[in-house]
Amino acid sequence: MPDELPTDGPLTQIVTAIRDAIADNLPRDLTWPILLLTLIIAIGIWFLRSGHGSKDADGRERHAGLVEFLLPRRIYTHVSARVDIWLYVVDRVMRLLWAPTILVTVAPWTEQTMLSTLAAAFGSGPALASNYAWMLLYSLFILLCYDFIFFLIHYSEHKIPALWAIHKVHHSAEVLTPLTRYREHFLEAPLYAFGAALSFGFAAGVFSWFFEDRITQATLFNIGFFALLFGLTGSFRHHHVAFHYPRWLSKWLHSPVMHHIHHSYLTQHWDKNFAAVTSIFDRLFGTLYIPVKDEYTPWGLGPATQEQYRTFRQNVIGPFRDWNDMVKTPRITRPD
Ligand SMILES: [Zn+2]
Ligand SMILES: [Zn+2]
Repeated sequence: MPDELPTDGPLTQIVTAIRDAIADNLPRDLTWPILLLTLIIAIGIWFLRSGHGSKDADGRERHAGLVEFLLPRRIYTHVSARVDIWLYVVDRVMRLLWAPTILVTVAPWTEQTMLSTLAAAFGSGPALASNYAWMLLYSLFILLCYDFIFFLIHYSEHKIPALWAIHKVHHSAEVLTPLTRYREHFLEAPLYAFGAALSFGFAAGVFSWFFEDRITQATLFNIGFFALLFGLTGSFRHHHVAFHYPRWLSKWLHSPVMHHIHHSYLTQHWDKNFAAVTSIFDRLFGTLYIPVKDEYTPWGLGPATQEQYRTFRQNVIGPFRDWNDMVKTPRITRPD
């Protein structure tokens, strides 16, 4: 949650308590340390690859000097990057309204339901004592639960036309910047918050049954492992630098350049790499695509429909127009 909330008054205390309760699970991507880390990694790639490894606004890798490598002019002056800013602002404002509501209602309800279901089926739990190894396992379990729900929501958004109408706003980005992570229609974020609340509640319910006291996630730098990993991957993957992992690691973890593929409008890249953090579910569902080095990935919706999703206004009204069209003409297929 943002840090600019006032710090006194009874209502604020309630909001602060809610914020503290869910803070461990909130992604920490747009923070200065992570942006600085992104910059350091990008400089490292520039050195190691002698100026190669960053893409321009057309999605093509090319040789560049250090400044152009880090901040390509055509990307950061692109209309898409400006629209990212406005969609980010709207997303943050709307998030204040719905994120606490969804997380503090759905997550505890799911946790309680899981606990009572397990208790009804197996009686009281083994009352294990928590230690750091269990906390790490708990963090991993949360990560896998969230990753699975994220995959399901994301997959559905690509396959169900009414949901694709909303998710299209994220894919209308013609260039990738760290803000593109938040480039989404204001109707999309509650879907993911609901999924997050379900997965956190499910994991907490299962682990509460096993342990005597309330178990907490393992932390690094005072940040929950889940939030840290998700923050790192979220930040790097919406960035023009082609950050590859070795092929063996890509089969387990979703590398940033694999998300370049997800944003490409080339037909061979459609509906590939849905993951948030791990590659596990893409492998299970047959949607994994590990790109070759510096693979060409033109971003956006493609020449046929990009013109309809260029401005902020077009992106905000887009889903409503698509839904209206769907009601009039029942079948809409994904544009190229
Ligand atoms: Zn997508
Ligand atoms: Zn994306």
